[in-house]
Amino acid sequence: MSRASQAINNISPLRAIVYTGTISMIIVIAGIAGFVVTQQNLLETVQKKQACYLDLVDFRGKILEFGLLRNQENSNKSLAEAHEREMSVQRKTLLVNFEKLAAEMKLAGLPPFSALQVTLRQWYAMLAEKNLDLIHSELDKSIEQAKVASKEASVRLVVINEFFLFFILAVLLTLSITAGWMLHNNYRQTLIPLAQLVGQLKLLNRNLPESIRDTAAEMKKDLTETGHSSDIAQITESIMKFCSDIDAKNKKLDEIYIRDEKTNLYNYRHFKEHLVIDIERAKRLNDKVSLAMIDIDHFKIYNDTNGHIAGDTTLKLMADVISSQCRAYDVPSRFGGDEFALLFPKTDTETARDIAERLRKTICDAPFMNEKHQPSGELTISIGIATFPNDALDWPTLISNADRALYRAKADGRNKVVMFSAMDSPSISG
Ligand code: GH3
Ligand code: MG
Repeated sequence: MSRASQAINNISPLRAIVYTGTISMIIVIAGIAGFVVTQQNLLETVQKKQACYLDLVDFRGKILEFGLLRNQENSNKSLAEAHEREMSVQRKTLLVNFEKLAAEMKLAGLPPFSALQVTLRQWYAMLAEKNLDLIHSELDKSIEQAKVASKEASVRLVVINEFFLFFILAVLLTLSITAGWMLHNNYRQTLIPLAQLVGQLKLLNRNLPESIRDTAAEMKKDLTETGHSSDIAQITESIMKFCSDIDAKNKKLDEIYIRDEKTNLYNYRHFKEHLVIDIERAKRLNDKVSLAMIDIDHFKIYNDTNGHIAGDTTLKLMADVISSQCRAYDVPSRFGGDEFALLFPKTDTETARDIAERLRKTICDAPFMNEKHQPSGELTISIGIATFPNDALDWPTLISNADRALYRAKADGRNKVVMFSAMDSPSISG
């Protein structure tokens, strides 16, 4: 995605609509104002030129009339005087008309009568001339010019109207395309991700709390594949954050739920759940499950000598050694007090014994703080082992028989591994 389209995507749909709407309104208002002013000017020009044209035609008629009047012969003296007075009035009227016409032509932007640029006296002299051909030809020229100019102004008016129509159509087309594009984007970037979000939230509600991790991962995948608007991105981000927070807290809860706080081994609850499941599975698959019960020898003495805090540290170190000697699928657990349970799924007695023996030796050889005060001079453990189905047919009996083997190891002098099956008179129940 390019930077520009990313930036556009980051603008919220509402803001984009407001921006586009405002810009379009400004363009339309400016266009209409410009059109109205231009059209008004053009209309005035057309009117002025047309009025000028009509006045020129009218003036030409008056000049003709004047010519006819001037050519009248009067034999009667009184009639001749009256005729001369009327001629004088006509000359003055024509002069006034001529001056008005010249001003009108100037206003309408028409070229003045070049050949008729005369003073008042010359005007009278001109009208007194024998023929009025010069005036006629000048007027004809001006009439023609006014006619052409008026036509041109009318054409310009039509063109500007057509242009405005085109402009309005272009604006409408642009607005329609922009609106369509925005609707499409809104649909793609808001409505689709919103529908996805709703779907994922439904899933989230249904699956809480077991599959929160899978759900969050799926949501993230689904929602990051499609581009979406900034509003949706914010909602998605907060849901992602919510999911990862719940995920982290869930993981922590899981750990708290199954771990022993002091040793970080599995707790009794998790050990028992595992044991029950493993026994059931072994029953179905005709398999074996071995259990080693481990107890620290004379741990009370160690505590009494070194204090409970040192005892706790040693308990944790002992737990670390037990964990390190296990296979990945074994279940090292704290059974309670100074006692540990080591569950070996799919394991026979011999293999369990080998691992237990290795563990006993490792603990015996490992240096522990102030262990020299122990009765044997070092910290040791005793281990009792029992195996399903050879030594027990259910999980409580398996624990109790492994415990019996452990007591035998204690009774036999401690720092030993005893298998229930190797005891003198073991009895299987359950
Ligand atoms: P043995 O098992 O060899 O017979 O002797 P023991 O002294 O270990 O046996 P006992 O059951 O008499 O004492 C177990 C001791 O374990 C008692 C207690 O001081 C110690 N203990 C139990 N839980 C904890 C714990 O969480 N922290 C510490 N520091 N000591 C604990
Ligand atoms: Mg003990």
